[in-house]
Amino acid sequence: MKRTKIIDLFRPELLGKEVCVMGWVRTRRGNKHVQFVALNDGSTVKNVQIVFDMAQFTDEQLKPITTGAAIKVDGTLVESMGKGQSVEIQAGALEIFGTADPETYPLQKKGHTLEFLREKAHLRPRTNTFGAILRVRSALAFAIHKFFQERGFFYLNTPLITASDCEGAGAMFQVTTLDLNNLPKNEDGKVDYSADFFGKSTALTVSGQLEGELGATALGAIYTFGPTFRAENSNTPRHLSEFWMIEPEVAFFDITDNMDLAEDFIKYCIRYALDNCRDDIDFLAEHYDNELVDRLKFVLDNEFVRLSYTDGVRILEESKHKFEFPVYWGADLQSEHERYLVEEHFKKPVILTDYPKEIKAFYMKLNDDNKTVRAMDVLFPKIGEIIGGSEREENYDKLSARIEELDIPMKDMWWYLDTRRFGTVPHAGFGLGFERLVLFVTGMTNIRDVIPFPRTPNNAEF
Ligand code: ATP
Ligand code: MN
Repeated sequence: MKRTKIIDLFRPELLGKEVCVMGWVRTRRGNKHVQFVALNDGSTVKNVQIVFDMAQFTDEQLKPITTGAAIKVDGTLVESMGKGQSVEIQAGALEIFGTADPETYPLQKKGHTLEFLREKAHLRPRTNTFGAILRVRSALAFAIHKFFQERGFFYLNTPLITASDCEGAGAMFQVTTLDLNNLPKNEDGKVDYSADFFGKSTALTVSGQLEGELGATALGAIYTFGPTFRAENSNTPRHLSEFWMIEPEVAFFDITDNMDLAEDFIKYCIRYALDNCRDDIDFLAEHYDNELVDRLKFVLDNEFVRLSYTDGVRILEESKHKFEFPVYWGADLQSEHERYLVEEHFKKPVILTDYPKEIKAFYMKLNDDNKTVRAMDVLFPKIGEIIGGSEREENYDKLSARIEELDIPMKDMWWYLDTRRFGTVPHAGFGLGFERLVLFVTGMTNIRDVIPFPRTPNNAEF
């Protein structure tokens, strides 16, 4: 018989029919007359209850059905008398695919802590919690493509291995095939990268933006969606060493267009998750964060506050709140500052704009005051910065002056500068950290819990 996924069992026309389900056992309980097995196959957070009439089965047959075992059941789909489920399966035939020894299978029925599950990241997708998170993550990835494709953006794949270390977004992981125990050296004692695989020093990308700009100034509007790597040693609940980033880039866009796009985009993704992942979100809300659904709806129902960095800093300076890090004009805002503006002061998502040029990247468009750049950071409750973006400097002279000022090696930048040398246009874009979006939508508090296999300092297990 053809397998039915558990998510499809709730269709009314299946009631009374023979079905076949396959999945992993969550629990088994019962007595000598009847046994109940809760089965999950990953298609939904809901388990299906399978009822074994012990007049038809032997104890010996059911003995291998322990938490974690994989089984196949053929049976009749019937209405359920028990509470918490609408249908159940009256078992006819049982096949065991694989047992899971209760002595050693780490995921026993009771709720494990998220910390414990991080140590078991190879098996945690089998828990209800991680099933829910991973399904939401998948739906959000689809929503992201849908949003941009519906609006005529093209999906551009930018390189993961790069030779330009001038993006300035964070420390990079080197990529090399040189023998680290026997490095070729120059006369001056430095590593001779001309002997390396690419004939120069290379690293994993921290952002696809620079190449994204090449795409946008040809195709008009592009987005990237791929992995990025940052070797920053920041052990926080919001940073990963390997994370996924979405970077739209649009020709003829100014910073206001960019803010509108960011706000529409993020609201679209949240709405998509609420409309398509409601069971999973409700499960996460019930178990981890009972304000989750309200918070998601709140973001949808409110316009984001837009204000300048200068005004934001003034609000922070005038507040009575005791901050750990000092705040003054020119300071890079810390998460505590961002969250104060969002959670305490405005009680809404905030887009901060026009930051001092010293604390932002070289490619951002300089304002007429010569002090600030057209940057925009979107700040979210619980998360802090979720998006960072800007209008880009399209003027060749101003951009090269900035590159010189910051001592960025020009020879590595010739191809980027060509966008400004030939047919330059105003353009803008931003980067959304995918895991920060998944954090927000699932209500999780640690970024290690929203990516299947987190990479963080001292952790590259699984
Ligand atoms: P932060 O100040 O939080 O470290 P950033 O200023 O370094 O962020 P950008 O370089 O602007 O961030 O990157 C764009 C987006 O990528 C950020 O808004 C954030 O959502 C996400 N992001 C940045 N660094 C990380 C990281 N290490 N792990 C996960 N997401 C990240
Ligand atoms: Mn950072």
